[in-house]
Formats: sequence, C-alpha cells, structure tokens
Amino acid sequence: MNILVLNCGSSSIKYKLFDMPDGGELAGGLLERIGEETSLLSHRAGGRKVRVEGEVADHREGLKWVVEALLHPEHGAIRDPSEIGAVGHRVVHGGERFTGSVPITPEVVEAIREFSSLAPLHNPPNLMGIQAAQELLPGVPQVAVFDTAFHGTMPRYAYLYAIPYEYYEKYRIRRYGFHGTSHRYVSMRAAEILGRPLKELKLITCHLGNGCSVAAVQGGRSVDTSMGFTPLEGLVMGTRSGDIDPAIIPFLAKGEGLSAEEVERILNKRSGLLGLSGVSNDMREVERAAGEGEERAEIALEVFAYRVKKYIGAYTAVLGGVDAVVFTGGIGENAYRMRERICEGLEGLGIALDPERNRRTVGRKEGDIAREEARVRVLVVPTDEELLIARDTLEIVGRAEGEGWKK
Ligand code: ADP
Repeated sequence: MNILVLNCGSSSIKYKLFDMPDGGELAGGLLERIGEETSLLSHRAGGRKVRVEGEVADHREGLKWVVEALLHPEHGAIRDPSEIGAVGHRVVHGGERFTGSVPITPEVVEAIREFSSLAPLHNPPNLMGIQAAQELLPGVPQVAVFDTAFHGTMPRYAYLYAIPYEYYEKYRIRRYGFHGTSHRYVSMRAAEILGRPLKELKLITCHLGNGCSVAAVQGGRSVDTSMGFTPLEGLVMGTRSGDIDPAIIPFLAKGEGLSAEEVERILNKRSGLLGLSGVSNDMREVERAAGEGEERAEIALEVFAYRVKKYIGAYTAVLGGVDAVVFTGGIGENAYRMRERICEGLEGLGIALDPERNRRTVGRKEGDIAREEARVRVLVVPTDEELLIARDTLEIVGRAEGEGWKK
C-alpha cells in the first residue's frame, strides 16, 4: 500500500510517499511560501528532481499541486490518485487525550481544533492539511500521528509544574513534550542496533535540530522530556532560549517597554544560538565563527553543550543509570565537535567517546561512537519521523479495516 505522509506548516507542506510495508520512498518534496506571491515546489521521485514556481493560495491548492506532482507522467510516482492507500498526518498537539496515533474521525478533528489553544501556530495548519486531504482524496483513510503522544507516559511528578494546581485543572498547563515521533523512532532503532529488547533499555535520546529536546526513555516509554507546555522549554535551540528564570519575562518587559507576547517572541525567535552568538541560528555558521575566534560564537557553543550535558546528567538520575545516549537531528547527526563537547567530562557516568568513530559518523550515518570499553553506548541514529508516521498509518488502517472502520 502506498502511504502519503503530510507535515503541514503555516505556509508549507512537506510530503513523502512510501511504498509500505517495505518503507521504500517513492517520492517526496516540499511546497513552500503558500499564500505568498510566488510559491515554490521542490519535488523528487525516482532520482529526478524538479522545482516548480507559481501562486498557491492555500493548503487545499497546495495539496492539489502535490498530488499533481505525484501523478506527473515524467517526474511522478503514481498513475492514479487511487494508488494512494492512506494518508498519515503529523499533528503537533494531541493534548492529554491522544497518547498514540488514531484514525481521523470528525471527533478527532474537533479535538485537534480544541488543542489549537495549546499550539496556536501548529495545530491550525495541521488541520488545514487534514481538511485538504479529505476533500481531495475522499474515501482515503487518514491517520493522525501526534508529536506529543510519545510523552503521554510521563508520570505526573514529571509533567506537573509547581504552580497552583487549579491552573492545571483550568487550563491543562503541564509538560507535554514534543518531537515524540523522533524520540520514539530513534529509541526503537537504538534497540535494534544494540541487539537488545527495547523493554530492557534505559535510553537518553537527544534530538538536536533547529528545535532541540532530550527525552528519558525507560523500556520504550518516555518518562521525561525537556520541552514543556510549549517547545520553548529545555535545551538551547537555534533561536529559542530553552530554560530561563520566568522572572526574567516581566523584568525584561518593564526594562524594554514590551508586552509579554513581545518578550515571548524574543525568547522564541531571537534567542538561543542566534541570540548568544549574534552570528546565526545555524550550528554550522556558529561553529565556523567560533573557529575564526569570535568570542560570542564560542559562548553560544559552550552554553548549548553545557545545557545538553546537564540534561544527560539529570536523566541518568531519573532513569537510575543509562544504557545508551542517542544523538539525532541535524546537529546530533553531524556536529561531531558538538557531540565531543557535550560528552566531555562525562566519564564518571560511563560515557566516553571514541574520537575517531565520532568524527567518522556524520552525513546520515548510523553508528556507535563510544569507546569500546565504555559502560554506556553512545549512538548516532539519523531520525526518520516520516517513516514512523507511515508505519503507524499502515498499522492503524490495517486494524481499522479489520474493525470495519467507515471511510
Ligand atoms: P529541523 O529541526 O528543522 O528538522 P535539522 O534537524 O535539519 O532541522 O537540523 C538543523 C541544524 O543542524 C542546523 O543548526 C544545522 O546547522 C545543523 N547541521 C546540519 N549539518 C551540520 C553539520 N555538518 N555540522 C554542524 N551542524 C550541522
């Protein structure tokens, strides 16, 4: 069965078409700048790549472009829309309700809409993608895979904030965590690489991309993660501050004459690697600048590494020891110098890198980069969230068909 995986952002649609259950990628691409003057579709299939420019008003029209590209006689991958057996959607926020992937029904759509108050930037475009797919591919089963779902197993002492309990009751303010699909994918893959059942393993998974988060995974279940009520908490990221003292917010608002929303924007968009270095939100640029002797770029790298190190220590305590630390995401998979900084001085915890293996494991390569004799394995595992969405979709469609799920 061919499964189309969609990841809809506010002005973009990222997509991949998989041949399941093999997992072969038939086509994929990105449509950007939806709603702007010129939209750009970068599409690839069967070794061919094309770029198409034009005006795409909204997600519905965008998805039409995507389906047309998939059907194209030269650079397409299928001949008829009926060859798309199911659609898997990445949905950011599943609130407290969804702790796993689900078939999309009118009630699920309603719930995703309700959780838009918790993820106002993400759930509305996810919904637009769902509605567009339902209209354009009527009768094709649709599945929602939530970014928050994997963390639904956190115990309450990990997800509650120590603020008046009534705010949890009234607004559902708590830690939700994100990047769940990635943490789940690399956990499963890590167990395969280690040749041990996931159930027996204590893992610390570090997803370091533009957004960054760490998760403590015990027996395949997330027991804590660094992102919180929103993706702003936790690690230093490209443009996000991660953990700060909340009292800084009113202090800064007063000092700079800003509203709370404006301060939040600074913490989301102008902080992190970018804010500290003044150079870029891109790790490559910051590393280059630091290499050329720019002090603030060096500071950004130090703070970034220190924060990850601190979470590894904390989660080692949470898990009562650790079998493997897993690095993934653009930084985790490639920035070997950053991995070196993060792991430096962790020998006391049994974590020690093999410098040569570490340096070699870049460019979407998988591998164990720990020293042979080290107690804790350190793995690099390229993430593949889309493949996991396709697998979930296949499983749910199979199960639902068995149960006579109405399309
Ligand atoms: P996203 O979270 O948007 O999916 P990625 O996972 O692709 O992003 O991660 C982007 C980050 O990965 C950027 O900070 C980029 O600089 C970093 N990165 C990618 N390749 C390298 C590399 N070779 N060396 C250092 N950093 C890299």
